[in-house]
Amino acid sequence: MHPLHEVAIVGAGPVGLFLAIELAAAGVRAVVLERLREPDLTIKAASVGVVGWEALQRRGLGPALQAEHEAFLTLMMPGLVARFGPKGMKKPGGHFSGLFLVDQELQQVPERHMRPIPQEALEKILDARARELGIEIRRGVTVEGFTQDETAVTLETSAGPLRAQYLVGCDGGRSRVRKLAGFAFPGTDPTITGYQALAELDAPEKLTRGWQRTPRGLVVSGVMGSRLFTAEFNGPPPDRDAPLTLAEVEASVQRVSGTDVKILSMPMATRWTDNARQATTYRMGRVLLAGDAAHVHSPFGGQGLNLGLVDAANLGFKIAAAVAGDDRLLDSYTTERHPVGARVLENTRAQVALMRPDPLTSALRTVVSDLIKLPEGNRYIGEMLTGVGIRYDLGDDDPMVGTLAKDQQLTLADGSEQGLYARMEKGGGLLVSPAEHSLPKNVHHARTAGGPSMLLRPDGCVAWTDASRGSLDDALARWF
Ligand SMILES: Cc1cc2nc3c(=O)[nH]c(=O)nc-3n(C[C@H](O)[C@H](O)[C@H](O)COP(=O)(O)OP(=O)(O)OC[C@H]3O[C@@H](n4cnc5c(N)ncnc54)[C@H](O)[C@@H]3O)c2cc1C
Repeated sequence: MHPLHEVAIVGAGPVGLFLAIELAAAGVRAVVLERLREPDLTIKAASVGVVGWEALQRRGLGPALQAEHEAFLTLMMPGLVARFGPKGMKKPGGHFSGLFLVDQELQQVPERHMRPIPQEALEKILDARARELGIEIRRGVTVEGFTQDETAVTLETSAGPLRAQYLVGCDGGRSRVRKLAGFAFPGTDPTITGYQALAELDAPEKLTRGWQRTPRGLVVSGVMGSRLFTAEFNGPPPDRDAPLTLAEVEASVQRVSGTDVKILSMPMATRWTDNARQATTYRMGRVLLAGDAAHVHSPFGGQGLNLGLVDAANLGFKIAAAVAGDDRLLDSYTTERHPVGARVLENTRAQVALMRPDPLTSALRTVVSDLIKLPEGNRYIGEMLTGVGIRYDLGDDDPMVGTLAKDQQLTLADGSEQGLYARMEKGGGLLVSPAEHSLPKNVHHARTAGGPSMLLRPDGCVAWTDASRGSLDDALARWF
C-alpha cells in the first residue's frame, strides 16, 4: 500500500501553489503535482484584484509582491512614477469593458485598488514561499486518472500511483480532474477571438497608444511594455488548439487597427476567447476544484486570479478541518464561492457585450460610462470587479459578518500597534477583542486596548461581531 498523503493538489499554477501555502498555514502538508518540468512563463494576467492581493498579504507576501508591482508600474507608466514615485501617484483603477473609470478614491477606499503585476512574477514568489515552507512540488508529473472511496483518492500519474485523503484540481480551465470526476460544467460558448503577445513592432507609432476600440474590434498596445492585446467579435477561433503563428497575430492587429503595422518578432503569444463556464458544484466527495478548473471566463476586468486565489483561501482551512476528521465545513466552500464565481462570469459576459464594435453598442457605452461616473455607479462596478463587495451568507444580520475584512491598525492592550493582517500571517483564526475569552488552539487573540470585537476566519472573513445575533462561542464552535 502506498503512503497516504493528506492532500494532493493537481497544478502548480498560482491557485495550486497558494492553496498549498494556505494548507501549510493550517498545519496540513500537501503534495503538488505539476505536469510541466519548469514554471510556465507564458504571459497571462497583468494584475491581481483587491481581495486576492489581500489574501496574499495575510500570508506575509506583501513586501515581495509590492516590489514586483512597483517594477511593473515603472514599466507601464515611467513618467508618472518618475514624477510622483510608485507610492505617491494616483493608483490605476480597474476597468469595466475598457472603460477606465473605476476610481477607488471616489469610493473612499483608496488603499483597496487592484495591483498591476505580471502573473509570472506572482508565480515565482509563490513557488519560492512554498519551497521555504517545505511543500513538496513534484514537477514533470501528469495526473492521468483517479478513483475515490470512503477513505481516500487513489491517483494514477505519469510517475506511478499516489494516495491522498483529498484531491484538489487546480489544473486550469481544461481541468483533467474536473472531466475525470464528471463535474457538470455548463455555460456559454465562445463568441470572440483574442490574442495576447509580447511583440516587437516595425513601427509602433502606427498604433494609437492604450486601449483602442475600432469598428473592427479592440487593440491594446504601448501600455505594458511590449504586450499587445487584440479581440475580434466575429466568432471563436476555428481551431483553439492549432499552433499560434506570428502571421495569425499580425493579421489580427492589422485588421483591427486598419494599419499595415508588422510584427518583427514575437517571443510569446496566447489565443483566448470568452468561453464562460462554471462547475455546478466545487466538491464531489473527496475531490474539489479551485481556480480556473472551477470557472472560466474572458479576461476582461482582470478577475480570474482574484477569484482563484480567494477560492484557495476559502478552501484551505476547511480541508484542514476535514483532514483532522471533521468535514462539516467542506460544503460551505461551494455555497460561499459558487455565487461569487457566477457573478464574475455574468459581469465578463456583460463586458464582452459592451465591447462589441457597432454604433448601438457605442451608444450603450456612453450611457454606462455616465452611470459609472456617479459615486454609486462607481461603487457598484468597483466592488464587483475588485471583490470588495463579497459578503457570504453566514445567516447573520450584522452587515459586517460574511465580508472580507480589510487591513487595519490595531492598538493592543499593551499600547503597541500592529496590523491586522500581520497578526494573521501564521494562520488560524483571530479574535480581535479587549475582553478575555477561552479559545480553541487554532484561534489567536489580538487583545485590543478597547473598541468593538470581531472574530475572523483564517480567510479574513468576519465570522462574528459584537452586533451578531449568535454568541461568540457558537461562532467558534461552527468555524473552529
Ligand atoms: C490573456 C489573459 C489575460 C489575463 N489577465 C488577467 C488579469 O489581468 N488578472 C487576473 O486576475 N486574471 C487574468 N487572467 C486569468 C488568469 O491568468 C487565470 O485565472 C489564472 O492563470 C488561473 O490560475 P490557476 O492556477 O487556476 O490555473 P493555471 O494558471 O492554468 O494553472 C494550472 C496548472 O495545472 C497544470 N496541469 C494541468 N493539467 C495537469 C495534469 N493533468 N497533471 C498535472 N498538472 C496539470 C498546468 O500545467 C498549470 O501549471 C488572464 C488570462 C488570460 C488568458
